[in-house]
Amino acid sequence: MGVLPMQIIRSSTQYDVCIVGSGAGGGMAAKVLTEAGANVVMLEAGPMWDPVRDSYMFSWPYDSPRRGAPTEKQQFGEFDAAFGGWTLDGEPYTNAPGTTFDWFRSRMLGGRTNHWGRISLRFGPDDFRRKSLDGLGDDWPITYEDMKPYYDRTDQLIGLFGSKEGLPNDPDGVFLPPPKPRCYELLIKQAADKLKITCVPSRLSILTKPLNGRAACHYCAQCNRGCRTHSNFSSPSVLIPPAMATKRLTIVDNAMAREVTVDASGLATGVSYIDKNTSRENHVRARVVVLAASACESARLLLNSKSSKFPQGLGNSSGNVGKYLTDTTGLSVSGFIPKLMENVKHNEDGVGGMHVFMPWWLDNKKLDFPRGYHIEPSGGRGMPTFGFLGGIHNHIRAQAVEKIPTRSGYGKSLKDDYRRFYGSTVNFAGRGEMIPNSDTYLDIDPAVVDKWGIPVPRFHFKFTDYEINQAKHMQETFRAIIAEMGGRPMTEMPTRERLYGLAAGGRIIHELGVTRMGNDPNTSVLNRNCQAHDCRNVFVADAGPFVSQPDKNCTWTILALSMRTSEFIVAERKAGKI
Ligand SMILES: Cc1cc2nc3c(=O)[nH]c(=O)nc-3n(C[C@H](O)[C@H](O)[C@H](O)COP(=O)(O)OP(=O)(O)OC[C@H]3O[C@@H](n4cnc5c(N)ncnc54)[C@H](O)[C@@H]3O)c2cc1C
Ligand code: SF4
Repeated sequence: MGVLPMQIIRSSTQYDVCIVGSGAGGGMAAKVLTEAGANVVMLEAGPMWDPVRDSYMFSWPYDSPRRGAPTEKQQFGEFDAAFGGWTLDGEPYTNAPGTTFDWFRSRMLGGRTNHWGRISLRFGPDDFRRKSLDGLGDDWPITYEDMKPYYDRTDQLIGLFGSKEGLPNDPDGVFLPPPKPRCYELLIKQAADKLKITCVPSRLSILTKPLNGRAACHYCAQCNRGCRTHSNFSSPSVLIPPAMATKRLTIVDNAMAREVTVDASGLATGVSYIDKNTSRENHVRARVVVLAASACESARLLLNSKSSKFPQGLGNSSGNVGKYLTDTTGLSVSGFIPKLMENVKHNEDGVGGMHVFMPWWLDNKKLDFPRGYHIEPSGGRGMPTFGFLGGIHNHIRAQAVEKIPTRSGYGKSLKDDYRRFYGSTVNFAGRGEMIPNSDTYLDIDPAVVDKWGIPVPRFHFKFTDYEINQAKHMQETFRAIIAEMGGRPMTEMPTRERLYGLAAGGRIIHELGVTRMGNDPNTSVLNRNCQAHDCRNVFVADAGPFVSQPDKNCTWTILALSMRTSEFIVAERKAGKI
């Protein structure tokens, strides 16, 4: 049903702040602003979601006839805490001819923080000043030293484990003790040490000790389902509850923001949104607007906020909204490791993620690509889920090459093979830096609207030789580690024509940069406090403000930057400036 041609329902209440989105950025903004005394309304396009009530953390595969396989609504599996995926019913987006960008969205309270990987890496000092170091992209208008206090307080508030390593561009945080490596992770570390690849305990926002009233993890390894004991980070576990406790947070769920409204002077007056329950348009008034709908959605909102004052969209007088889009580069290689076959049964329980990882370890000056990537290993004998024990039949086929006798067939002999081979593969996923380029951006599709009539984004995406050469290096490195472990890669190395297996843009789900910050209003959308150059009471608190896409996952910086932005808003309100 389309939007009914009815009068807009205008709320008489004027809130101090309207936050759009309740994920990492929106959740942190709600906590900081409400605790500072602001009356906040939060618009969230999805339904309410409570990890204690709604998580499938303790479900067994046999609890469902589908054994947890994906559904239209939960594309990562029906036990996964993601209401969404790369497609959403009635909410299309488009790709410019000849380009591919896949846009992942979760529609639920807490957004993607309910099922993210919890890999929680700070950006390093060099990441904020790359242009000064190698001439590519741009420097951020802030430094690591500006961010460090906010990273420290994010660590203390949310909690993460890790180890002090003193690495120059992977700064240590305020860590809880890391869990011990599992058997296959020890073998990976042995091989990495031999190849002189740095391999250290991972850094995940999962509690290995109780923190701030939250229980320590009990190692069920199901973090992607949401944690009923609040032992990992999600916005509904850690940020929304304290904001609600102030009684100054009003959450409007199933509220799809459509545009930021402005007055004749060009100041924001609030946000209009579609109530998805009624398909009617509502308007909420606020003195300050914080967009945290995820980077591309916030850019879409700004571009759709057209007025006589801002005919190109709000905050877009420089034409920069939508530009500088990047995603993390990514590909993975699996290997069969014969010495992991028929291993001694032992307890491999742990957190829902890796216990070791490899931060970038090389000097680029000797390489044919700039910047770097980190490596996320996985493997082991986790609880089987839908499918055929992680595609184990493929492993058995691979064994023909190794001349390891298989019994397979049907019944008992097949089960025996499953027992022998299960847990004998490892996987290495590379996650690297993409440099912004002028062919990669989003704009508004002139011809396509979503089911509420809101114009949708159109993506333009291109990798350059920088990313393609980096992908080749990832492939060669992962194959070298597998060989060092005495194993064999399970796939052929993809050719350059196939970009060495580089995942399509958007597939690594770290899209960012489309409302970037900067000191020059001609080349950036926001100032160094994530405040729109064009409109002093509009802020962006997701990954849109990022100037570059370092080789670290982005969410810890979204959280720390949102804390910084929110405290700036509090100070500006107190000073009467907004
Ligand atoms: C499977 C997976 C694994 C990941 N692993 C990691 C990891 O290990 N480490 C890492 O750093 N990052 C990881 N990420 C990325 C991480 O989830 C995101 O970077 C982070 O959640 C982004 O936070 P956000 O607040 O910008 O947006 P989101 O968390 O996406 O929240 C945005 C919210 O805004 C709402 N919204 C959107 N549009 C509107 C609108 N028009 N009106 C009202 N509300 C709206 C959405 O419904 C959503 O709830 C992963 C993501 C996925 C999917
Ligand atoms: S592994 Fe730990 S943090 Fe993750 S869902 Fe289980 S108990 Fe929670």
